[in-house]
Amino acid sequence: MSALESAHATGRLPHAILIHEAPGSGGAALATWIAQLVLCESRPPCGKCAACRHVLEAQHPDLTLVHPLEDSQQIRIEQVRELGAELALTSHQGGYKVAVIEPADALNRFAANALLKTLEEPAPRTVLVLVAHQPSRLPATIVSRCQRVSVRAPTREQSRAWLTASRGPGDWDAVLDVIGEAPLAAAALDPTAVAQLASETVRGLDQAVQGSADPVGLAERWSRSELALRLTCFENWLTERIHGRLVIPANRAEVRSGAHSRPPDSVLNTQVLFELLDRVRELKAALATPINRSLALESLLRSLRN
Ligand SMILES: [Zn+2]
Repeated sequence: MSALESAHATGRLPHAILIHEAPGSGGAALATWIAQLVLCESRPPCGKCAACRHVLEAQHPDLTLVHPLEDSQQIRIEQVRELGAELALTSHQGGYKVAVIEPADALNRFAANALLKTLEEPAPRTVLVLVAHQPSRLPATIVSRCQRVSVRAPTREQSRAWLTASRGPGDWDAVLDVIGEAPLAAAALDPTAVAQLASETVRGLDQAVQGSADPVGLAERWSRSELALRLTCFENWLTERIHGRLVIPANRAEVRSGAHSRPPDSVLNTQVLFELLDRVRELKAALATPINRSLALESLLRSLRN
């Protein structure tokens, strides 16, 4: 951040910055900070002036945000063309124009080609920020034109300390166990509710394996409340079981003594577990599309018995 600050102060800020972030580790927050750095009306980035606040609210006229459109996993060529046209105009406030593309991994092939044109001939006083989880999925021609900045996932201790300081005490470990090392995403959740939801979901899955759960009722209930989080719990539950089968016996005792281990069950073999994991991930990816969630989930729960 200080490197970008001094680059800006001396007028050497690159036209294009590629933020490589571990999912949920704050790449979007850094992109917002960069936008404030160049658009701030006071000593940048103050975080308090009207411009900084407008950036934070995604309301600044010289800031363009590009995300996948609703119901789509992709950023399309029309969006990139619009962005190119927007950046070619002079800024509303007489200063910089900033564009943030997030996640840049979502640019489809045509959109990436169109973006290359913008990168090859950048308009003066423009900054293009790309946020990507997997920059390797972007064409090398794009990556080579960007200055790269990495945002690493924080350690569990750092996440816990930050969450406790910013959100107050709570069972943050339970939240991080469910969603992974993503403190910014965790901060938006209620630790008590997540812990409760996780244990309830695990209990439901255990019962589904034993045949003591009603798949129809469970699927209906889960599809109506926090399905995305529940599917993440389902994923974790499957991953734990797969791990339990893949570790060598010497480690197995150790793994099984952990708080999250459970005894191996005879019903599910490893192949089935991997197939289920794929199906859970497919369902998660399809949540934004108009599918019958309850029916899809019911079929998954039934597979736990087959
Ligand atoms: Zn400011």
